[in-house]
Amino acid sequence: MNRSKFIQVSALGIFSQGVFGANPIISTLTPDSTKSKKLSFPVVIIGTGYGSAVAALRLAEKGIPVVMIEEGVDWEQYKKVNPKFKFPKMTFPSNHSTWLRNTSIAPIPLGNLGVNFKKFTGVLERRDFSHVKVYLGKGVGGGSLVNGGMTVTPDKTYFQETFQKVGVDIDINSLYSTYFPKANQMLGMNYIPEDLYQSEW
Ligand SMILES: Cc1cc2nc3c(=O)[nH]c(=O)nc-3n(C[C@H](O)[C@H](O)[C@H](O)COP(=O)(O)OP(=O)(O)OC[C@H]3O[C@@H](n4cnc5c(N)ncnc54)[C@H](O)[C@@H]3O)c2cc1C
Repeated sequence: MNRSKFIQVSALGIFSQGVFGANPIISTLTPDSTKSKKLSFPVVIIGTGYGSAVAALRLAEKGIPVVMIEEGVDWEQYKKVNPKFKFPKMTFPSNHSTWLRNTSIAPIPLGNLGVNFKKFTGVLERRDFSHVKVYLGKGVGGGSLVNGGMTVTPDKTYFQETFQKVGVDIDINSLYSTYFPKANQMLGMNYIPEDLYQSEW
């Protein structure tokens, strides 16, 4: 294989090294093991959210090894190292639920607001811009660690308008006839029961 296609991965921090597809996650690197080894992969993917995971899966299915690099915590490993660890409740966020801040940034003020804690690479980040605050999931799994698990097919006219604005020319109809149905099927999407949906709450 052409060596120039390889990206050297060395001197990593703590990362999950995963090859999806035929092989499940093959190992977890530790800072020590990375010092003594130089690893080469044809593809390195930064982040482990949905987009990264699907890209890694598809590449691995084609037999292309992938290493995924994640700056957040691998919570499965964390739990193994700290067997007594439990995620904080939504009603009482802590540093484990907050990315590198001293106080909670939970979008709904449920509890523990104003309480100071030691900064930690917790599971929810907020980036503040002048007119908007953006929430992000952090850790192996990205947004899947924090999101509501709702799968909503967006309104077609909204896509048409937005793609036109940014000058992207794609066949929007194929999204609705092929790709949203495929994604929904793969995710095992189902519907909220009607009585629940119609309830006051
Ligand atoms: C609280 C909340 C609730 C949500 N609820 C829903 C919902 O119900 N339904 C829905 O469809 N969507 C929901 N979303 C949105 C959805 O989770 C995101 O759209 C989705 O996760 C984005 O996927 P992604 O692959 O773009 O990246 P992400 O899932 O954001 O993953 C990116 C990953 O990359 C890592 N990373 C970033 N930069 C670096 C770097 N430089 N080096 C190493 N690692 C890096 C991050 O730590 C993160 O783990 C929600 C989001 C939030 C925050």
